[in-house]
Amino acid sequence: MNKRIIAFQEALNKKPLNNEVPVKQISEYFAENVFTLDKMRKYLSEDTFQKVKEFIDKGIPIDRKIAAEVAESMKAWAMGKGVTHYTHWFQPLNGETAEKHDAFMEWAGDGKVIEKFSGNQLAQQEPDASSFPSGGIRNTFEARGYTAWDPTSPAFIIDRTLCIPSVFVSYTGETLDYKTPLLRSLNILDKAATEVGQYFDKNVTKVIATLGWEQEYFLVDSAYYHARYDLQQTGRTLFGHAAAKGQQLEDHYWGSIPERAAAFMKDFEYECHLLGIPVKTRHNEVAPAQFECAPIFEEVSVAVDHNVQLMDIMEKVAIRHGFRVLFHEKPFAGVNGSGKHNNWSLATNTEKNLLGPGKTPKTNLQFLSFFVNVIKAVHDYADVLRASIAGASNDHRLGANEAPPAIMSVFIGNYLSNVLDELEKNVPTGKMSPEEKTALKLGIGKIPEILLDNTDRNRTSPFAFTGNKFEFRAVGSSANCGNAMMVLNLIVAKTLMGFKKEVDALIEKGQDKDEAIFQVIKKYITLSKKIRFEGNGYSDEWKKEAKKRGLNNFTTTPKALEVYHDKKIKRLFEEMNVLTAREIEARHEIQLETYIKKIQIESRVTGEIIYNTIIPAALNYQHKLVGIVKGLKEMQTIHSGVINGSNEESDNHVLVKPHIEIIKEISERVNILRQSVIDMTEERKKTNAIESVEERAFAYCNKVMSYFDTIRYHADKLELIVADEYWTLPKYSEMLNLR
Ligand code: ADP
Ligand code: MG
Repeated sequence: MNKRIIAFQEALNKKPLNNEVPVKQISEYFAENVFTLDKMRKYLSEDTFQKVKEFIDKGIPIDRKIAAEVAESMKAWAMGKGVTHYTHWFQPLNGETAEKHDAFMEWAGDGKVIEKFSGNQLAQQEPDASSFPSGGIRNTFEARGYTAWDPTSPAFIIDRTLCIPSVFVSYTGETLDYKTPLLRSLNILDKAATEVGQYFDKNVTKVIATLGWEQEYFLVDSAYYHARYDLQQTGRTLFGHAAAKGQQLEDHYWGSIPERAAAFMKDFEYECHLLGIPVKTRHNEVAPAQFECAPIFEEVSVAVDHNVQLMDIMEKVAIRHGFRVLFHEKPFAGVNGSGKHNNWSLATNTEKNLLGPGKTPKTNLQFLSFFVNVIKAVHDYADVLRASIAGASNDHRLGANEAPPAIMSVFIGNYLSNVLDELEKNVPTGKMSPEEKTALKLGIGKIPEILLDNTDRNRTSPFAFTGNKFEFRAVGSSANCGNAMMVLNLIVAKTLMGFKKEVDALIEKGQDKDEAIFQVIKKYITLSKKIRFEGNGYSDEWKKEAKKRGLNNFTTTPKALEVYHDKKIKRLFEEMNVLTAREIEARHEIQLETYIKKIQIESRVTGEIIYNTIIPAALNYQHKLVGIVKGLKEMQTIHSGVINGSNEESDNHVLVKPHIEIIKEISERVNILRQSVIDMTEERKKTNAIESVEERAFAYCNKVMSYFDTIRYHADKLELIVADEYWTLPKYSEMLNLR
């Protein structure tokens, strides 16, 4: 049976699923399944509640007595909603979420049980750390690890289980997840940004980093997914010739959403809203079968949790709708890949956006301080930022002329470029006259409050200012954005600390505050100039120009990760108390291992598909042609004897020539395919024997992977010439044609 034809029939017959989203306004059920502070308050004494809030605001651990009361309140609320189990829910370094459900159940004597959930159970669970990636940490220390309740993110219900957001650490205290360093980076950023914020407003006592992610994804009918071994095993198609009609007509972006996809969206958005995930926007993306959703922005740590939850929900809901959702950065060659734009900004307790220009010279000096510090941070730590988004799947996207290049740069738009250039020119070095100061203030006072419409939309930049926030566009669609956000928070915090030191030093020397700030801003503008780029990031000229400027273009993961060897970088993470050198090394190793495994799986699947699917399809068709040729030759011999003669003569006869040519092409390509797979497998064997993880990763990247293109090229050529009925892998034209 031809799997492709069966899948085609199945996909064709699918109807939009009638989902059960109630006809209600979102506000009526929003966060219904979340144990919000509001709900907690109803169950706790005011005194205890205030203590919990204080713990959360200050980021300090909650004591056991209070934890017991909170546990009691959570249980009461959850049981009221039919919940029977609880789990610590965390984000280990394998890129997934982890959960292990336990019932609220204990012996009550006489063979009966009662529901119980203690403060200890809320506070801590003990998963076996050796079953999660730990980058060698587990080899030298105990295998045990524990998860600890993270009260900054509210508990929520999935199905009939209470999920408690948690952090994951080894017994010796090393972090084993994305969450812990993220929380640390947020604390340190809060401190650094508050201190700088105080120059402008003494009421600023807390600064919160905010994140609004835009999640891109593909939908593919599950029937095709099941007929594509590569999609199942690797999340992307390793083969497939581009469809004649891909995205070139530009008819998908913001087009009308196909009915089945719309039904899926309504359904998963409903589930998101129940969980308090503020998903707001949905639209078709550029590639066929590609879509995007985006929430209202939130505090970074909650937004990260929500993004992880969203991906999980989408995967489940998609299956109900007869789809598979693909978060891979490049599931289909030749059409756009998927990213996860991370819109990031800084908000104060006084409800001001520190990256939004204001009405007065004072607020604009504040805006410019933070704005320039972020640019300087990206400039100084571009390579760490690049490493934060590295991964086998994102390598396909960065620099593929549809996503930002692997070169880090900052786009700020014409207007602000001029503002910075003017400041650089006009701020005098040394003492300012009162006139100069007034002129400068007047100048920045003119920055319009609403820059949104003035910021040109340069889609080719990896890091763009978009009016009141920066948009980190190079983050991969499948990534946990916690990693990129942790690094961004960290480098901005570090830069702001340096900024404050320099400003304070000038003030101490007798300059007034504004003057000092202007001068350090000027200095930072000059120092970070080379990271600013306003042109086309996709162009070859930019690659050349970037090289001249000394900006790195690390196109592969092992190369991008080399920055973790840098002692300065290790020190940076250590002195900011975000990760120890040892944790950095462990994470480096985990990322390399993940990279190796992914390429290894792709390489194996490539070999299997070539042997099990593509060569057989080609040979079956070839066999058919051989039969036809035989028949034709026989027929001719009987009727006129024309074909009789030497083999070569008879093969060139007009009657059989086209068949013979195809037969030959098939043999040639099958030969190349077979040999390439043999060579690739040999290379893999050699590579696997390399002891150093890093060298092995480089070998997978430069040697094993170098076979992929050749193999794909010939396989895709076969797809073009083999008769449709013999080809068993669903084609791009079928998979991407979503109804
Ligand atoms: P576009 O596609 O034009 O970039 P979207 O509306 O798709 O815009 O996404 C913009 C994202 O930026 C949304 O998630 C939005 O909530 C978020 N955002 C807006 N303001 C801020 C801010 N101050 N901090 C963080 N994210 C923000
Ligand atoms: Mg955007």
